[in-house]
Amino acid sequence: MSIDFSKNIETEEPLVATTLTREDEGEYSLRPKTLREYIGQEKAKGNLEVFIQAAKMRSEPLDHVLLHGPPGLGKTTLSGIIANEMGVNVRITSGPAIEKAGDLAALLTNLNENDILFVDEIHRLNRSVEEVLYPAMEDYAIDIIIGKGPSANSIRLDLPKFTLIGATTRAGQLSAPLRDRFGVTLRLELYTPEELTLIVTRSAGILDAPIEPEGAMEIARRSRGTPRIANRMLRRVRDFAQVVGDGVIDRPLADKALTALEVDYLGLDNIDRRMLRAVIEYYNGGPVGLETLAATINEEAVTLEDVYEPYLMQIGFLTRTPRGRCVTPKAYQHLGLSVPGGFGAMEQLSF
Ligand code: ADP
Repeated sequence: MSIDFSKNIETEEPLVATTLTREDEGEYSLRPKTLREYIGQEKAKGNLEVFIQAAKMRSEPLDHVLLHGPPGLGKTTLSGIIANEMGVNVRITSGPAIEKAGDLAALLTNLNENDILFVDEIHRLNRSVEEVLYPAMEDYAIDIIIGKGPSANSIRLDLPKFTLIGATTRAGQLSAPLRDRFGVTLRLELYTPEELTLIVTRSAGILDAPIEPEGAMEIARRSRGTPRIANRMLRRVRDFAQVVGDGVIDRPLADKALTALEVDYLGLDNIDRRMLRAVIEYYNGGPVGLETLAATINEEAVTLEDVYEPYLMQIGFLTRTPRGRCVTPKAYQHLGLSVPGGFGAMEQLSF
């Protein structure tokens, strides 16, 4: 299997960022290569196992797969694993990187039989590119227009049979015709602290970083259900262990390191806290519209929605209502603020 890594790499490296940063280039070595090594996501894994086996028995390419869920949960990793299990190559690209229909045609015509094309952020494909994708997905063919004006001719070009794996943080933004052409749709969920503990322990083993079970648990608990954050925190905590400790990552050291990095015991960072405080201080706990909230704290609405909200909602600090976002009593308590309506109100809302 070969992986062509042409993913955009950002230069900013905040600890909580769930997009790929320069530091994560080394993350390639931490990526599990087989379904067996891939921790958690039992439902998605179970389904995939069946589909992969069936496709192999029929010597056919796997049906097109749509993976959705917040960033950093293992969508790219899973596409590499699928390729590995199928014994084919994967080419990795992203929606915004395919600017013109011709770019997609070049990618598709260069695939080998049964290969996988992984398109990250597939909801960001532009319409003209998307239209080339429809016949490619359905009939393994593309229509190419040759010439201009009245003499223009359309010819149909056959493609090798391939599997498209699309990844998106927002399945709702996919156009219906594109969504309908995926035979398999899998939703990845945030990981439990127990699963993340296994991931941190596995990664520490690969990085040769001595770690105690409680040290791994502490990192896991603070990594917002996201393996990419867990691995990133592990690297930073390992630095602390080497410089200010005796090299071993135990619970007190992980706690000290992550506190120094301003990640609290639930994994919340400054942006989470600013976001919650803004809803409380400027909008009386909500509801407030996402765009308004983003403007208030000077962050991008998409970042808040894709990166911050899923975890805040999972831990029950934030709710989404048709009128906007609301903060829960649990969040007030975490920030050390009194809940409006006093203690009685808090008790009533039992948490
Ligand atoms: P996404 O494509 O969803 O943004 P990635 O596939 O790039 O996420 O995963 C980020 C990192 O998290 C990978 O380098 C990998 O090491 C780790 N990872 C993700 N899922 C798992 C998993 N299930 N088990 C172990 N490590 C994982």
